[in-house]
Amino acid sequence: MTIPALHTQATHPRIRVLSRERAQRLRVAWFLLGTLFGLGASLLIQKALDASSDTAFFAQHRSSESSENTEPPSEEPQKAEAPPAPPLKPVWPRRVEYTVSSGDTLLDLMTGNGLSYEDSHVILSKLKKTFDPRDIQPGHRVSMMLREDTSRADHNAARLGAMTITLSKIEQVNLTQTGPGSYLMERRKKKLLSQPTLARRNIKGSFYVSAERAGVPPGMIAELIKNFSYDIDFQRDIQPNDTLEILYESKVTEDGTRMGSGDVIYALLKTGGKEHKIYKFKDEHGIARFFTETGESIIKKMLRTPIDGARISSGFGMRKHPILGYSKMHKGLDFAAPTGTPIFAAGDGVVEMAGRNGAYGNYLRIRHNPTWASAYGHISRFARGITKGRKVRQGEVVAYVGTTGRSTGPHLHYELIKNGTQVNPAGVQFAGGNKLGGRSLAAFRTQVKKVHADVARLSKPESTKVAEAAQKPARSK
Ligand SMILES: [Zn+2]
Repeated sequence: MTIPALHTQATHPRIRVLSRERAQRLRVAWFLLGTLFGLGASLLIQKALDASSDTAFFAQHRSSESSENTEPPSEEPQKAEAPPAPPLKPVWPRRVEYTVSSGDTLLDLMTGNGLSYEDSHVILSKLKKTFDPRDIQPGHRVSMMLREDTSRADHNAARLGAMTITLSKIEQVNLTQTGPGSYLMERRKKKLLSQPTLARRNIKGSFYVSAERAGVPPGMIAELIKNFSYDIDFQRDIQPNDTLEILYESKVTEDGTRMGSGDVIYALLKTGGKEHKIYKFKDEHGIARFFTETGESIIKKMLRTPIDGARISSGFGMRKHPILGYSKMHKGLDFAAPTGTPIFAAGDGVVEMAGRNGAYGNYLRIRHNPTWASAYGHISRFARGITKGRKVRQGEVVAYVGTTGRSTGPHLHYELIKNGTQVNPAGVQFAGGNKLGGRSLAAFRTQVKKVHADVARLSKPESTKVAEAAQKPARSK
């Protein structure tokens, strides 16, 4: 048969090749083994050296300092084999402070610092009425004042003089020994005070960035942009060195720690030499809305930009049509925005049409009153429940940007229609209407006066410092 012959002929050179390869592999393997062994050996030696130095340290530590009076072992005070820091002289009374870690218990922290189990149990059972020891959580801070317990032989034996558990920036549990075995417990929550805070700045870049740099919380800036948008086109109207002034509430603890922010109170945007002021005011129904300085609601005006943060990609007027190629009247504003960007109703009204409409693609028209309507084209989809006859509120999301119909890319085509004819939204002035009256207007005027008094006071940094300094001695009494 030819097969074995072929076999031997074919394998013979292969064996030689293999053996050469194998030799090379073996060399590499031996080299690696050698290196690993060397590494392992040096690690073992290192470990042995470390261990011997550790034991030497412990021996020295135990002979010279039998009191075991160590720095607070912050993680697990129960672990006996690892005193974490060099010893201190036993000084009584002493204070220990911990930040609670996962798995820590108050009992561990107490007994780990020389308190007896009996004392610890008594204290914890008494503490339960004020603070359940099981509610201790990672991040809580525990501070203990310890006194020497001379009744026990242990050099570390301690009694608890006082303990403070800090639960948050504003809440603490205090325990103070008032006599042998008796303790005073108290849980305190600092009151949060509302303090007006002023941000004032020249606008560099965008309104958003400038306000953020002035320390105004982002959510508040977004709220202001939305509410200024009735009057201001943020894409076009903002010029370098326009100014902003924002008065808002800061939440401050009794001792002056800032804990966050409350509501915006007032904002001024000075652009192109014109001042736009808006004031937040709770009306007689308890609803907070923005008003102009004279007490007119700002939301009776229709939105000039029914979309957040979009740029106008095509204005109102004659233009060369991007698809048709010839000049044609553009009867609306185009806002370039990604597909899916929410579109807001420009004003309160009723849906007059929601569906396909030729070159507009998916099209929505809202009737605001007998004179005015607004229309939205190239929509990708309508918001839930948006069908003919549905009532909508100003600012409500009614649809989402798309590129349906005759469109070259995702954008919103927005039209304002007066008596059946499209008009330029940028040139439209809407009548006010919803104005405060009677007692509401009187209350609003009082608030406006207070706002300007606060702004004037906070504009002078020295005066606030003086006021704070004057308050301090009164607080400490
Ligand atoms: Zn358009």
